[in-house]
Amino acid sequence: MATLIDGKKLAAKLKETVRAEAQLLPRRPGLAVVLVGDDPASRVYVTSKRRDCEECGFYSEEYALPAQTTQAELAALVDELNGKGHIDGILVQLPLPKGLDERKVLLSIDPGKDVDCFHPHNVGQLTIGTPVFQPCTPGGVMEMLREYEIDPEGKRCVVLGRSNIVGKPMALLLLHANGTVVLCHSKTPDMKALAASADILVSAVGRTGLVTADMVKEGAVVIDVAMNRDENGKLCGDVCFEEVASKASYITPVPGGVGPMTRAMLMKNTLTAAKLHQGV
Ligand code: NAP
Repeated sequence: MATLIDGKKLAAKLKETVRAEAQLLPRRPGLAVVLVGDDPASRVYVTSKRRDCEECGFYSEEYALPAQTTQAELAALVDELNGKGHIDGILVQLPLPKGLDERKVLLSIDPGKDVDCFHPHNVGQLTIGTPVFQPCTPGGVMEMLREYEIDPEGKRCVVLGRSNIVGKPMALLLLHANGTVVLCHSKTPDMKALAASADILVSAVGRTGLVTADMVKEGAVVIDVAMNRDENGKLCGDVCFEEVASKASYITPVPGGVGPMTRAMLMKNTLTAAKLHQGV
């Protein structure tokens, strides 16, 4: 039976370290979170980010804008936040309501305050292996691997899903850690066989029941990034947990796996930004 990688416990530990480091700064880190529209899931995320800021001793500002907000109004707010000295990180909660151009918004955030690591400047830094910020979800996965002393070096790492937020940066981080990486997507033929060859398998597709035991090598490390809802509305991942856990050496649960780590990494990035802004 696989060892459970406890994301909740690890995230609490990481936030404790962040809090301790933040206390040593001349000015506490500040995070601004912008929510446009009334998507209930986004509201929940924003509330938990405020709670994380409190736990880490950060200053936080929250902006809840109506769904009818125009591109120009949103741009003006981001511009204002870019100029605020006590704000180190700016997070615009995605997805944005229809009619707003996400790309334009992300481009308008000062790269030094882009704690989500979505700005092309930071994506470029990540690509060449000199990232200032860690992309939160894949960065959280790497923290988990480190904590459980799972070294990707020399391992075959298979990532399912190639989104800009998860799959691609995940592949890059594993590559920089000297893993041999295979990145799969919806047009990949024979994904099952590729997955079954993985020493480290990361699934970030968003399909309940996608990863079955026959897609997992005996003793593989299985990281489930997905956050899906099953037919009863319960949170679940891509991985058929019970059957895969009986084959894997390590496995992350959903909930309580990668999710809490993503949030903790946002705090870590905000601390990094605050240090840079304060010349520490
Ligand atoms: P996304 O943008 O929808 O990307 C999904 C990826 O999966 C795409 O690259 C797509 O391929 C690929 N895909 C779809 N069907 C496939 C199939 N049958 N076989 C192989 N690949 C397939 O999603 P995302 O934003 O990356 O999120 C993925 C999952 O992670 C979701 O469940 C999301 O909720 C979760 N998530 C969790 C966290 C966290 O903190 N735990 C953070 C972010 C996202 P194409 O590119 O070819 O379309």
